[in-house]
Amino acid sequence: MSIDFYQIFGQVVFIAGILILILLSVTLILGRILIRQERLIFPRLLLFTIDVFYGLFKKFAGNVGVDEKIVDQIGVEVRNKVNEKSFNQIENKDKLLILPHCLRSPKCEAKLDSTGLHCTDCSRCVIGVLKNKAEYRGYKVFIIPGSTFLKKIVKENKFKAVLGVACYQDLNLAMMKLSKFHCQGVPLLKDGCVCTKVDTRTVLDKMGIELPQSTKIPQGNVSCSKERSNRRLL
Ligand code: SF4
Repeated sequence: MSIDFYQIFGQVVFIAGILILILLSVTLILGRILIRQERLIFPRLLLFTIDVFYGLFKKFAGNVGVDEKIVDQIGVEVRNKVNEKSFNQIENKDKLLILPHCLRSPKCEAKLDSTGLHCTDCSRCVIGVLKNKAEYRGYKVFIIPGSTFLKKIVKENKFKAVLGVACYQDLNLAMMKLSKFHCQGVPLLKDGCVCTKVDTRTVLDKMGIELPQSTKIPQGNVSCSKERSNRRLL
């Protein structure tokens, strides 16, 4: 009797393992199609795999020779596509813009408190530009060093949608946690702890601000690159 039980249990575990491997493989293939061809197929399946098997999916990607970062990239791209319409329908006063403080200049003199960095738009980095444009349109803006601040912001503010900028992993994990809100995310072009860069045009575009292609816009901060002249063009 007990031998039968263990045999059946072993078979169930084996079949479950095979099914999970199939699920991870299919998700990886569909995710690559999304990234390369911008075709979104079975978004709920992609999100289910990423949400439920996040760590395992990363290990699987690494084991089949794909950069683990693709898991976060797929998560962000799927959520961006799924939420895009509803995000655009929400009034700006109900939206937050959350920027990472690693975008700031090493010479930044803004004060940091429990709500984040208080940017004074000193023109040394792109944060001031984005903050001004977002606040002018009604967004609440937060410049934060990490996820602890995000938890506090979520707890203390009323909002319906979030536009966030971060590295792929932080962005995906934050969008996962904020899944009951309508989120849009813009990944950093260059991540790290300092001197990071973002595609400013994409962030502005998500806010509904279109700049002429001829307008030169900064992506990081002027202390890390020679972008001071570009900053003045905005
Ligand atoms: S613009 Fe950049 S460097 Fe200047 S205060 Fe704001 S965050 Fe700091």
